[in-house]
Amino acid sequence: MGPNITVTGMVLQVMPIGEYDKRITLLTKERGKMTAFARGARRPNSQLLAATNPFSFGEFEVFEGRSACTLARASIQNYFRELAADFAATYYGFYFLEFADYYCQENNDEREMLKLLYQSLRALESPAYDNRLVRLVFELKALAINGEAPNVFSCLKCGAKEELHWFSVKRGGTFCAECREEIADAVRLSESTVYTMQYVISARVEKLYTFTVSAEVLGELQRVMESYLDHYVAHSFKSLKILNDTDHFTG
Ligand SMILES: [Zn+2]
Repeated sequence: MGPNITVTGMVLQVMPIGEYDKRITLLTKERGKMTAFARGARRPNSQLLAATNPFSFGEFEVFEGRSACTLARASIQNYFRELAADFAATYYGFYFLEFADYYCQENNDEREMLKLLYQSLRALESPAYDNRLVRLVFELKALAINGEAPNVFSCLKCGAKEELHWFSVKRGGTFCAECREEIADAVRLSESTVYTMQYVISARVEKLYTFTVSAEVLGELQRVMESYLDHYVAHSFKSLKILNDTDHFTG
């Protein structure tokens, strides 16, 4: 019989179990990803009912049994209710949760991913940011946190640090004008796009959602990130399919 532990984190995923219970996946500061059973959490009068919904962020007290953890109580600081009230933003939010669920592991230090998730959901709630840009920043920063971001700080061939106007998905980074000749899949990127990528990769998570970009830069980033993720993330996200279909309808 283990003691109760208190972890700070967010509900990533919820599965109904039996008639009244749920199994939740949490992303926590202390233990990385973890799973817990929430008994009776689907009963209408349960104190755990709202606390065990996706996006709920706060403190979770968990009883550690021999084979599984059971949620004892929760104290939620942010339900992200504004996000849940916005149909389009919710789809982005679910995609971020699924992305984090895919990337994060148990008993791993996932504090940066948790911070990124939290700040990105806040940005989705804010009318100041274009959700399409929030998505690109989230994706690129998540790759950077996991050591899988492209190298956009120098030419991959000669090491030059200026005039990095060409990007190759297959090679995973930028090239200067001279070296790009031999790179078949190199596409041209504007200086602002390269700078934006450099900023997202190197800035602290708290400073990520402080800028906007032109339509041209947004378009370049969308094309680069889409083919980069296609090439390097061998996973098809269910929520991404819904999100792309929705984007298609809403333009
Ligand atoms: Zn070069």
